[in-house]
Amino acid sequence: MTRKYNFCAGPAALPEAVLQQAAEELVDFRGAGLSVMEMSHRSAEIVAIAEEAEADFRELLTISDDYAVLFVQGGASTQFSAVPLNLLGDKTQADYVNTGQWSKKAIKEAGRFAEVNVVASSEDTNFTTIPAFDSWQLNKEAAYLHFTPNETIGGVEFFWTPEVDVPLVADMSSTILSRPIDVNQYGVIYAGAQKNIGPAGLTIVVVRKDLMGKSNSHCPTMLDYQTAADNDSMYNTPPTYSLYLAGLVFKWLKAQGGVAQMEVINRRKAEKLYGFIDDNEFYANPVEVASRSLMNVPFTLANADLDKKFLAEADDAGLLNLKGHRSVGGMRASIYNAVPEQAVDTLIEFMKDFAASHG
Ligand SMILES: *Cc1c(COP(=O)(O)O)cnc(C)c1O
Repeated sequence: MTRKYNFCAGPAALPEAVLQQAAEELVDFRGAGLSVMEMSHRSAEIVAIAEEAEADFRELLTISDDYAVLFVQGGASTQFSAVPLNLLGDKTQADYVNTGQWSKKAIKEAGRFAEVNVVASSEDTNFTTIPAFDSWQLNKEAAYLHFTPNETIGGVEFFWTPEVDVPLVADMSSTILSRPIDVNQYGVIYAGAQKNIGPAGLTIVVVRKDLMGKSNSHCPTMLDYQTAADNDSMYNTPPTYSLYLAGLVFKWLKAQGGVAQMEVINRRKAEKLYGFIDDNEFYANPVEVASRSLMNVPFTLANADLDKKFLAEADDAGLLNLKGHRSVGGMRASIYNAVPEQAVDTLIEFMKDFAASHG
């Protein structure tokens, strides 16, 4: 068996140790005589898996009892509508920051339910910057402010947290668990699992408890945070296997030293790659230096005619999924928690050789 290095933006790489453990437990889960996939979500085993996953996740991000942790489905994209349906209350307006493709999708969907104020946008720089906070046109009447701390496609990340008077809502799909955050600064945090948590199918919502129970009367039961909270995220059948794997990833993260240690490693990985790109004339990254994502590193080649060749040769070298998003082109290396530093070193060596032979 040869594992290759996977730079996919999502579904993304999982820790090899986690996959090994899952393989060992796949057919007979710890002597239960059946697979996790075949167990009732009401069984003692699954309830324990869910409770342990929640406890470990809370520990990793130091989440207080003021917050509910919900395991739901539908991906981050479903949260684009769940957020306004749960948080608008008797208000009609919501503030949104537009820093890229995922912000835009959240804004579009919220527009079905709310009067959306785009309080700041970096579209004029082709989403290579983050608008300065003092330029944001905040509205007192907004029910909440929504932003995207890491734009997975553009590779733009906030390294500061907006301080606003309304609940702060963050789509953390591609940055969660990559470094410590202060959860207390947020009203709602949500993330699809398939970037930095586990396999697709699971979505995590962290919601301040006082913000629940105010959902719009048209809010579907399945999107209502209160429903999930009241039923320990088991109002209907949860994605049990994804939850189990996410739980293994949380244990793995704790064994690595938690998110503080992940930040050290992630910064080192990102600095190496950006440093190489900046020093080599053959490659370029368009994002302003202060807002460069630790998780998603887009880059272009000096000659776009070589893109196909680059990807084919990378593939042959065991470096997979480096193609950039169709909306921006070029390349993108996603270097989430589970992508080892060795993968980044190997990628840089490959890029060096490619530039030398084609530059
Ligand atoms: C991947 C991603 C999404 C979409 O997630 P789904 O789970 O596929 O709906 C939304 N926002 C961000 C920031 C993402 O990276």
